[in-house]
Amino acid sequence: MRYLLSIFLIATHLGLFAQNVNKQYVPERKAANRVEMALPEVNGYTVLRCDFHSHTVFSDGLVWPTYRIGEAWIQGLDVLAITDHIEYRPFKEYMGGDFNTSYELALPVARDYGIMLIKGTEVTRKQGVIGHFNALFIKDANAIDKPDPEQALQAAFDQGAFIMFNHPGWAVDTCLLTEFQQKMLDKGLVRGIEVFNHHEFYPRALSWSRDRKLTVFASSDIHATINDVMETHVQQGAVKTFRPMTLVFVKEKSEEGVREALDNRRTLAYFYGNVAGEERWLKSLFLASVQWEKVSERGKSISYRVMNLSGIQYKFSIDAAEYILDGGASIQISLPAGKREVSMLVLNMHCYEGMHPEVSMVL
Ligand SMILES: [Zn+2]
Ligand SMILES: [Zn+2]
Repeated sequence: MRYLLSIFLIATHLGLFAQNVNKQYVPERKAANRVEMALPEVNGYTVLRCDFHSHTVFSDGLVWPTYRIGEAWIQGLDVLAITDHIEYRPFKEYMGGDFNTSYELALPVARDYGIMLIKGTEVTRKQGVIGHFNALFIKDANAIDKPDPEQALQAAFDQGAFIMFNHPGWAVDTCLLTEFQQKMLDKGLVRGIEVFNHHEFYPRALSWSRDRKLTVFASSDIHATINDVMETHVQQGAVKTFRPMTLVFVKEKSEEGVREALDNRRTLAYFYGNVAGEERWLKSLFLASVQWEKVSERGKSISYRVMNLSGIQYKFSIDAAEYILDGGASIQISLPAGKREVSMLVLNMHCYEGMHPEVSMVL
């Protein structure tokens, strides 16, 4: 009987009794899996994974607005802004619509996926003279279409926009603030800056962010599909892929919460395994991520298990020794007995040109 039952189960499994065996899914059908970069709560703040700079066919991007939402969801983003150029729309004669259309098309899908879609646009003028600026939290992109760049930024600001200076070193061979850009910063119209864009890191912009109290951003500025900028990344022994992101430390997960955090400069730029921004937030993130636990004591040394609760791979040095701690993993470190405090120079974190934060922890 048991033998017959086995034959029956195998036959069923092979689909021999199924009515339709003329179609099979190879590979097996599997729902899309969203993978979030793990981030601990930091000083009571929830850390959101955000990309505030992306394009669609409604400017010079190569994808439809709803496609951006699906990508963002799979890549574990909480917040996305589509920031199509006002002044550069090469497909205009085919696309129709106006400067608000990409947002309007993407919004219902963003709601379905639970992605917070921030309404934005990119004011796009001559690089190296005026430059490019993203206006976020705008109400009407059409009203920002002005011949004079300052008037355009003012129109965005008057709508309540948060304005950031994009890719300060792109297409120019140095990172210099032009007269116009300095004026916009001095007037308080522009309050944020990209320290990372697509695949460029601007250490000088990081120094400006500290000296001029600007909010830091890292953006994909993606035009084609996000696969173009995906990085390999090890988490819990497996390779994961993440895009450049702005990490935002919010009191509450809402548009108001994100805006409040940007206004108060509670952001960090994450890109290709690096984290850049204000020293106190780097230290807070590291301290919330990395935990030390005493394992054993032998003679003159104590062995510790050092655990990483985040998905970020950390590289740090203690005295002359360097360590790499994968996201979600642990390493063993031995220190001389009697050491009360350990000091780690975190090499993949950047707080100023050429500077890494030094984090101390009581053992
Ligand atoms: Zn741009
Ligand atoms: Zn752009």
